[in-house]
Amino acid sequence: MELMPAVFIGHGSPMNAIEDTPYRREWARLGRELPKPEAILCVSAHWETEGLAVTESQAPETIHDFGGFPKALQEFRYPAPGEPELARTVTALLRLEQVALDGQRGLDHGAWSVLAGMYPDANVPVVQLSLDRARTGAGHLALARKLAALREEGVLVVASGNIVHNLGFYDPRRREPYDWAARFDALIKRMIVAGDFEGIADYEARPDAALSIHGPEHYVPLLYTLGLKHPGEKVTFFNENVENSMSMTGVIVG
Ligand code: ZN
Repeated sequence: MELMPAVFIGHGSPMNAIEDTPYRREWARLGRELPKPEAILCVSAHWETEGLAVTESQAPETIHDFGGFPKALQEFRYPAPGEPELARTVTALLRLEQVALDGQRGLDHGAWSVLAGMYPDANVPVVQLSLDRARTGAGHLALARKLAALREEGVLVVASGNIVHNLGFYDPRRREPYDWAARFDALIKRMIVAGDFEGIADYEARPDAALSIHGPEHYVPLLYTLGLKHPGEKVTFFNENVENSMSMTGVIVG
């Protein structure tokens, strides 16, 4: 089977799920141009747990884990099936970890907002892996590396967050990036190209990280994409845009 790529997507506003934005158009292009996956494993900023968990539901519900958005978004459903078999494969790959199988949990907006753009027909099964709050950046990277075999089994790993994410500074009237946000996004891209993933995982040591990473949950999904890269594989960026305090930069490995 063809080796699947791995993708990190800057998700930004959940409105990208239902609005025709330049970001969503890129996600749709990826959905058309990437090899068609048998299943998707999504690692989203919006599912943090104590310890690790994977979704096991056959029919995961659409979780509306936000407030203040229009009714059309509150009522939006992304009816992709689950795939309990993939959930069990993930647990097997992470056999040295404790992984809870969660039959109740649905898909959060970090997952469905981007998948609605990539696979609007919702016909590819989706499983989510949670972010373990207790883990350091290096711990997330090490965990991601254990999942590399999924790429050989037709599974597309989609990580969803934002390299720069600080809503405390977010100003909808302002389009241009803050200097620190632009610098941090550019630094991380340079480090990705240089292959310095350990340095990316040690994010607190990077300049501008204190403002750019306001809570690590939007940043660390990136490590789940980088950890799947084989030596010598190419890396491609898309949606390379920083909107005031949020980077929409996406990364494709392979
Ligand atoms: Zn988010």
